[in-house]
Amino acid sequence: MSFKSLGLSDALLKAISEKGYDTPTPIQQKAIPKILEGRDVLASAQTGTGKTAGFTLPMLQKLTGAQRMHKRPVRALVLTPTRELAAQVLEDVKTYSKHVDIRSTVIFGGVNANPQIRTLRQGVDILVATPGRLLDLHSQGVFSLKNVEFLVLDEADRMLDMGFARDINKILALLPKRRQNLLFSATFSKEIKKLAGSFLNNPVMVEA
Ligand code: AMP
Repeated sequence: MSFKSLGLSDALLKAISEKGYDTPTPIQQKAIPKILEGRDVLASAQTGTGKTAGFTLPMLQKLTGAQRMHKRPVRALVLTPTRELAAQVLEDVKTYSKHVDIRSTVIFGGVNANPQIRTLRQGVDILVATPGRLLDLHSQGVFSLKNVEFLVLDEADRMLDMGFARDINKILALLPKRRQNLLFSATFSKEIKKLAGSFLNNPVMVEA
């Protein structure tokens, strides 16, 4: 199995080969085609399985295939529990989007918001965020979430463990109804299943 056979574009294949990967990991083999088809995905995957590339690569392909909007509203939102994970996800997004026309940034709490606000005002296609800072800057009117086509909840179990359930629900209420949703979690408690049931539409389940 190759990355090319998964249906990824030449620009993404180039970034993948520059990064030095030659074979997709099991979660990538299973998740990428389903995400490209437009399905909602419920993925059981730990850190280290290649999950980040598993959602980032097809997300980039879908965003670059669609008509570009003039002002670059946020079209993909990736929520993570911690600033460390958010920063890591953004680094991966930057690596894989090297040869496509996509802008991305990250916002998280505990640091001065002004540089984050300045970057957001210039327009980004992909926003990686922790829930609290996202709600904070959204309530200040810094960006709109009305054009989000793609939502990823990464490490959803840790988000619930850290008490983000209310924030997640507030964020979900700000998004357009028509969008593609992905949920990644290492574990599947009753709470995760309930959360998944509340916003995933007929999801495909994949395991690492
Ligand atoms: P993640 O599970 O997303 O945290 O990724 C774990 C590590 O695997 C990261 O260091 C990635 O750069 C690396 N990785 C992701 N996909 C592949 C692949 N197909 N082949 C080799 N390494 C990979």
